[in-house]
Amino acid sequence: MTLTRTTCPYCGVGCGVLAGADGTIQGDPKHPANFGRLCSKGSALGETIDLSGRLLSPKVDGQTTDWDTALDRVARAFSDAIAEHGPDSVAFYVSGQILTEDYYVANKLMKGYIGSANIDTNSRLCMASSVAGHKRAFGTDTVPGTYEDLEEADLIVLVGSNLAWCHPVLHQRIAAAKAARPEMRVINVDPRRTATTDLADVHLRILPDGDAALFNGLLAHLDSTGAVDRAYVDAHVNGFDAALAQAQAEDPTASGLSAEDLAAFYAEWTGTQKVVTVYSQGVNQSSCGTDKVNAILNCHLATGRIGTPGCGPFSVTGQPNAMGGREVGGLANMLANHLDLENADHRACVQTAWDSPTMADHAGLKAVDLFQACADGRIKALWVMSTNPAVSLPDSDGVAAAIAKVPFVAVTDIMENTDTGDLAHVLLPAAGWGEKDGTVTNSERRISRQRAFLPVPGDARPDWKIICDVAARMGWADAFDFETPEAVFAEYVALSKAAEPFARDLDLSVFEGVDYAGLEPTQWPANDRRFFADGAFYHADGKAKMLPVVAPQPRNQGLRLNTGRNRDQWHTMTRTGKAPRLGAHLAEPYLEVHPDDAARAEVTVGDLVRVSSGRGDAILRVLVTDRVAPGQPFAPMHWTRQLTSRSTVNSLVTSTVDPISGQPALKGAGVVIERFTAA
Ligand code: SF4
Repeated sequence: MTLTRTTCPYCGVGCGVLAGADGTIQGDPKHPANFGRLCSKGSALGETIDLSGRLLSPKVDGQTTDWDTALDRVARAFSDAIAEHGPDSVAFYVSGQILTEDYYVANKLMKGYIGSANIDTNSRLCMASSVAGHKRAFGTDTVPGTYEDLEEADLIVLVGSNLAWCHPVLHQRIAAAKAARPEMRVINVDPRRTATTDLADVHLRILPDGDAALFNGLLAHLDSTGAVDRAYVDAHVNGFDAALAQAQAEDPTASGLSAEDLAAFYAEWTGTQKVVTVYSQGVNQSSCGTDKVNAILNCHLATGRIGTPGCGPFSVTGQPNAMGGREVGGLANMLANHLDLENADHRACVQTAWDSPTMADHAGLKAVDLFQACADGRIKALWVMSTNPAVSLPDSDGVAAAIAKVPFVAVTDIMENTDTGDLAHVLLPAAGWGEKDGTVTNSERRISRQRAFLPVPGDARPDWKIICDVAARMGWADAFDFETPEAVFAEYVALSKAAEPFARDLDLSVFEGVDYAGLEPTQWPANDRRFFADGAFYHADGKAKMLPVVAPQPRNQGLRLNTGRNRDQWHTMTRTGKAPRLGAHLAEPYLEVHPDDAARAEVTVGDLVRVSSGRGDAILRVLVTDRVAPGQPFAPMHWTRQLTSRSTVNSLVTSTVDPISGQPALKGAGVVIERFTAA
């Protein structure tokens, strides 16, 4: 059996996979993300590639049809809406699952040809606060870390990150490094005790959103103990005094930690030069997520612990191509190559490169706002690509109702029946993992190839091709006459050359004229340069910026629902739900409840409870465990309405977002629980 070198389609670690058409799956020993390792999800990929449930032909109004009919309908609906109501009356909602080439053409169509920036992505749900925090601190959205930094660090602080379940191979790399170098220390900052905590030397059980107070306190401690690198700050950082003054005004015990635990943590962080602070959804998915990111970045900037091996802040991305989407401007407030949509010079640069007739000149609707615009009638035509917002967004019942109100909805997906696809007027069958070619970028900015090793089933087509086919029917055939994903990638690389005066470090010159078919996993910036090693940042004066962060006050709101992921499932289980061994880990929707809360609700292990929030209610099986703190039950978000015939967990969550990033606060819904007895 010939095995094809490709990349895992699940998390942002971006592991290399050797895959065969007979379902053989092996870790790629040569891939620098995983060196042959795979986690449970990656290992089971071979069990998910059958065609059961697949959408194999286009459908219009529920009837199977041919591509011309379906594409004509989509193009006409979008053209008519734009002609009648203007470009901002239409929207695309895309996904960190699609490949960079798909993302690129979708952005080009919406921003450069339709002339709106109403294209946002489910990556808004996973890393938008990090993007905004990076831009505020560094002047660009730059993730400075590498996986090797984690292995070289003497202290790893994992904040709001269940790496063991959500980035398992990265967790394995840390575990191996710690086994080889027992003096390496790991501190886990999390309101929950998770599988990740098992690896940690210390668990700091903060209150929800207590991380802002924790890191503000660290900044004040660094100053009071003379640990601030004054020379570094003077040369390379603005905003120190204001950030410090605010930090000094805060009470670090608002984090929920005792004075003793705080003192020990601060002493260890201060006394260790090689510190990497890894953070993920516990930081990002919050109404103050961007501030929490900046509270972490402040401490690294104040000590110059950034830009050197084994050092720095490191935001790990959730999805396989969240980073690739960022690179090609996949968010409603960005342009390709990390250019700024609201900067006239940047817009002119991209418009010239695209030779486009128009250009969006203001930010589009971010995810939550986009579906609110569907609800209130502003969006007349919506195209959802390879994601399931009727399950994954907060207030997901409200989102489903909003989609149902849109006069025209197209959905591209690999599956015939999804909660979102069931609301579509036109269903477009997408080629899936293993059936199409393109590139993805992982959490450490490494661009890898996804390669086809299976025939494309039925009438399915790759996303980039479907988008180009619609663009051609809307009158822009010449600008979208790409024959291959390689041609799309070449245009993206060429655009990066044009953008060089504005984005010098998104340097893709290493990809010029590259052998796309044989492309090896390659990190940017090119030539092994390390971001910020020279102390040069991207604000106009070349300096970084520290931000004053006001820590939120601890809230007492009864039960506060924390949502997240299971080890063996991915998003809404479209693929992982097919593998019996993955289902065996945690087989049904559940709620982890502290014994005190279980006693108060008079429920015990195995009981069913109704979890209600005033927006929806979900029926979940009770797990009683002290892994969660009192008042902080936890539920995974994977199960759909189709699987349970009930509301989804995310239907319980409000649409509250971080005001800067627009990222939803998916971890803080006020809920009540009561025993449920089936009628
Ligand atoms: Fe796939 Fe992530 Fe597991 Fe690697 S760690 S095999 S990328 S799910």
